[in-house]
Amino acid sequence: MGIIMAHLCATPFSKILGKKLSNDNESHLVSGRECGECTACCVVLLIDDDNFKKPADQVCSNLMAEGGCKIYTKRPSVCQDWYCSWRFMAQLDDDWRPDRSGVLLRSDENGIIFQPIRDPKEVLTSARAIELIGGGVAQGIPMSMSIPTKNGCRSYGMSLNEPLEAAVQSRNLGTIQSKMVELIEHSAAQNTDLIIATDSQ
Ligand code: SF4
Ligand code: SF4
Repeated sequence: MGIIMAHLCATPFSKILGKKLSNDNESHLVSGRECGECTACCVVLLIDDDNFKKPADQVCSNLMAEGGCKIYTKRPSVCQDWYCSWRFMAQLDDDWRPDRSGVLLRSDENGIIFQPIRDPKEVLTSARAIELIGGGVAQGIPMSMSIPTKNGCRSYGMSLNEPLEAAVQSRNLGTIQSKMVELIEHSAAQNTDLIIATDSQ
């Protein structure tokens, strides 16, 4: 029998979104929180700068094997200004740093996007990921995920609110996990556009 999720609605998303999450505003960053060894956004981000272009979902050619950026002092403005939601959301503990959790969280005007950087079925069905996703769905906050498809192709984006609603209402962890696995498998099987390689400089 699955565990009943007693605290599904505990995550205060309305407060989070009420702060007007902006991925380019340092004034909202959590004080004292640093990226450390994480380099997830150097893979996920689309960069379309005059001097440097990189497709989304592809490791940046400037990312060094030992970590760090080859062109750090001249890196594009998007690299200087962009932060994932973990840098903004004080409610997320240190284990939610993307390289630790396996999930890069980002937000835009359409809500919160869960982007797995490891096996989606593992990192998006953990109890704490379900608590976060389910809490958002229960509060009517737009939630979506971006799931890798075939090698060399773009990820597939899917809104989670409607397809997860009934499972979330059950408040049953196993039921929500099973539905998430179904949605992840459905997303991973989609045909998506090829990642187009670009001249790096
Ligand atoms: S240019 Fe540097 S900071 Fe920007 S994505 Fe590439 S490695 Fe990361
Ligand atoms: S994904 Fe977030 S924590 Fe990781 S390097 Fe980028 S901004 Fe920093």
